[in-house]
Amino acid sequence: MKITDVQIIRFSVETEQYSTKWGYGKIGAKRRVPNGLIKIITDEGVNGFDTVYGWGMYYDPPSVDITENIIKPLLVGQDPRNIERIWQWMMAHRGFSETAVGSVDCALWDIMGKIANSPTYKVLGGARDKVLAYASTYPNLGDPDVYAEHAKDAVKRGYKAFKVHAYIFWDPINKCPAPGKPSFPKKDIEVCEAVRQAVGDEIVLMLDPWSVYTYQESIMVGRQLEKLDYYWLEHPMDERRIEPYKQLTKELQINILGPEMEPGSFYSRGNWAFQRASDMGRIDVSFGGITGNKKAIAMYESLGMQCEMHVGGFGNLAILGSTTEEQCEYYERGLTRPEIDRDQCPPFLNNPCDPMDNDGYVAIPQGPGLGIEFNWDYIKDNFLPDLSSKNVKFED
Ligand SMILES: [Mg+2]
Repeated sequence: MKITDVQIIRFSVETEQYSTKWGYGKIGAKRRVPNGLIKIITDEGVNGFDTVYGWGMYYDPPSVDITENIIKPLLVGQDPRNIERIWQWMMAHRGFSETAVGSVDCALWDIMGKIANSPTYKVLGGARDKVLAYASTYPNLGDPDVYAEHAKDAVKRGYKAFKVHAYIFWDPINKCPAPGKPSFPKKDIEVCEAVRQAVGDEIVLMLDPWSVYTYQESIMVGRQLEKLDYYWLEHPMDERRIEPYKQLTKELQINILGPEMEPGSFYSRGNWAFQRASDMGRIDVSFGGITGNKKAIAMYESLGMQCEMHVGGFGNLAILGSTTEEQCEYYERGLTRPEIDRDQCPPFLNNPCDPMDNDGYVAIPQGPGLGIEFNWDYIKDNFLPDLSSKNVKFED
């Protein structure tokens, strides 16, 4: 079996998300933004796919250029089942991002599932068919009572856990962007108190300040969260500095979760874990794909550390299906806000990635491979052609 082509198929979607860089995650005017998918074609009629571009503001998905000039020459002619060998080549090359490595790797694991006529997570070694989700809020939703109401609605919907993104690059007092003073920790604590009061003691709560705190702010907020019985404090400081994380992890009782945005796939996770710079690990397929993530999770397991997957998506769900709840407890379902119906299927898919039942569990997709079903009519109608488009076929 050989790979014959690798394509990036780009199309546009309408969104209101991330319209301003400062005031992270603030909702804005409707506009069209590029989205896309990667397609790996083989000579045996089995093709591998992954959705890309979903988190393009922070990550660097495979561009058409990188795909044509670096990824394709590396992959064409190779057996797509030699995933470990291809992963080692891609990581060693360093000419493209770990997100691009992740897209290729996920698409190869999609092929593996399809060859076996099985969901990919069973090929990886199945552990569970569903995973508990937490609602992960947009930041900068409004005053604490807006968060409190939103948390109550989430519990009504079935969520057993709820994660607050409070005020990030946004001034909640004057209600304007705050690029120079990105954090408002005392206001964040007010949000966390209001949410705990709204949902009672049974719901699991977390806070993610998205790295905008100083060390002292992290200590101050962390101590309040301990009183409020929050489960974890996520990624509170700039992750390029590891020493403050080591100190914070020692100083606080609450679980410190990270690193989230640090490049280096499972290598950097190893560095952090062996230095005990967090209590719980974190990674997602944008950092080296399913292959890199599985290595990270095994490393964490050997140290008795949980690894909580960052963001959602088909690749992450395949990983969660092949790990136990003790090792990777939650699925991040978001981002959520009162005006958005998070249960709606994106227009470029025929099946929602992460349908959730009334008990707060997301089902791992059961279709062959990663279980992605594209809406090819939508993709064709909203296609963004480029230099490599001539061979694109709008089909599985
Ligand atoms: Mg986070």
